[in-house]
Amino acid sequence: MIAKKTMLEENFILYNFQAAKKNELGINICALLDGDYAMLIDSGYREHCKDVLEDLAKDGISVIKVLPSHFHPDHVEGILLIDEPIVFGNNFATETLEKFYSKEVVRVMSPSKTISDGDKLQFGKFTLSFEYAPGHSDCSILIDINDKYLHIGDIYFKSDDGVDVLPYVLWAGVEEHIKSLERILKYKDRSYLISHGNCPLEIEEMKEGVANRITYLKTLLDSCNTVSAEDAISECSKPFNFLHWRKEVI
Ligand SMILES: [Zn+2]
Repeated sequence: MIAKKTMLEENFILYNFQAAKKNELGINICALLDGDYAMLIDSGYREHCKDVLEDLAKDGISVIKVLPSHFHPDHVEGILLIDEPIVFGNNFATETLEKFYSKEVVRVMSPSKTISDGDKLQFGKFTLSFEYAPGHSDCSILIDINDKYLHIGDIYFKSDDGVDVLPYVLWAGVEEHIKSLERILKYKDRSYLISHGNCPLEIEEMKEGVANRITYLKTLLDSCNTVSAEDAISECSKPFNFLHWRKEVI
């Protein structure tokens, strides 16, 4: 698998894997470096993580820490390839893992360090802080990096062709997802990193994209979840891909 590798700045790499098949999403993995050590933000599936580990190993760098934006398989499965990393996550992470994995696998991927709102984590020259942002998953967080980048995980998707992707959310999470979208825009002067699709994204694009996603989700709420995908996005300023995800709102 070939990733596009972007140095966002010194010691900060963004690996972007294009989707392997049509109707799938690309995968992003960020690597923060501190000398011979790295911390990943999201690990991707095993095939993505394997390539990242090998690429870093060429420069003598080993991954010792993983900070998933949330604990869905496409963000954590690569952890299984890493030798006893420190995994950071909030109190909801294990519950998410239990929906997908056996007890034994959950034990390996579960956070070894719990993080909460307001905590600060230092890795090399990077200071990271967190804000709880449920909706897409009960364990989703925003990761603020040096007051410069905001990693927003799957609160905002794009497909490889640059088109917006409909939010993926269950009915129980719709209201929380709206609040999490609103949270994103409180941050000033950030470049936005997402887990699926080309990035960084800048604030003007984010404003339009956030407004469209909120319009879609509020239309679902107003209709008590009966509106069609086409009708729900009819007031949005841009099209969405993955309209079939409307059916997942159950
Ligand atoms: Zn994802």
